[in-house]
Amino acid sequence: MMGQITFDKNEVVTKTTAGLIILPKEHFLVTRKTQPPENRNRIGKSACDQCSYCTEFCPRYLLGYEVMPHKVMRSLGFTLTGEAIWNQWAELCCACGLCTLYACPEDLFPKEACDKAKYDMRQAGIKFTQTKPVVVHPMKESRRVPQSQLRKRLKVEQYDVETPFEEIDFIPSEVKIKLQQHIGKPAKAIVNVGDYVNEGQIIGEVSENDLGAFVHSSIKGKVVEVTNEFIRIQKL
Ligand code: SF4
Ligand code: SF4
Repeated sequence: MMGQITFDKNEVVTKTTAGLIILPKEHFLVTRKTQPPENRNRIGKSACDQCSYCTEFCPRYLLGYEVMPHKVMRSLGFTLTGEAIWNQWAELCCACGLCTLYACPEDLFPKEACDKAKYDMRQAGIKFTQTKPVVVHPMKESRRVPQSQLRKRLKVEQYDVETPFEEIDFIPSEVKIKLQQHIGKPAKAIVNVGDYVNEGQIIGEVSENDLGAFVHSSIKGKVVEVTNEFIRIQKL
């Protein structure tokens, strides 16, 4: 629900990859996640009836945070001014996706409206701070979403089967290591094409004044490509 979608079969795993879910291209989740932003906004602007189910199910709202995606949906009706007042209700959203993929009875995109609102607020330098005390909603426990219902809504029931785990000793002949796998600034490559590196050797660094993380080589090999985004290493 929170994951990124990719059609690139050469996409690599990083330390923040929790798992891969492979679905047919025409699957509900794929079509939902690949809707162009203009479509999402246009549909949301015209079809949201402000039923507020998105807010009533929102786990952050139920915890007592001032997150109200139904109010954020109102921001879609504005073009040049006026949306900022509604954007602030998105600031404390954790992008779990429950509103878009489960709660909204009209298959709209409140989570994506919150993403946009948070982005717009960052661009405008606006920071929302909750002033009300954080008090857990009395209905929180009653509004927990049963996993079986969620699987049904996401149309993944057919994949809920026993999956044998097969442990294999996989040693890749080449690795592509991303320089940004973490929050903050990307690491800067400190190796060049043609360098030889050992397994565990630091190959990307961040300056001590920046928030970020060092990047290490996962294999012993030769550096064959260095860009601002990644370092490619061939196994020796
Ligand atoms: S649940 Fe859907 S229709 Fe209802 S207020 Fe939220 S976005 Fe609008
Ligand atoms: S995506 Fe954000 S607004 Fe939607 S349910 Fe999750 S926390 Fe709430």
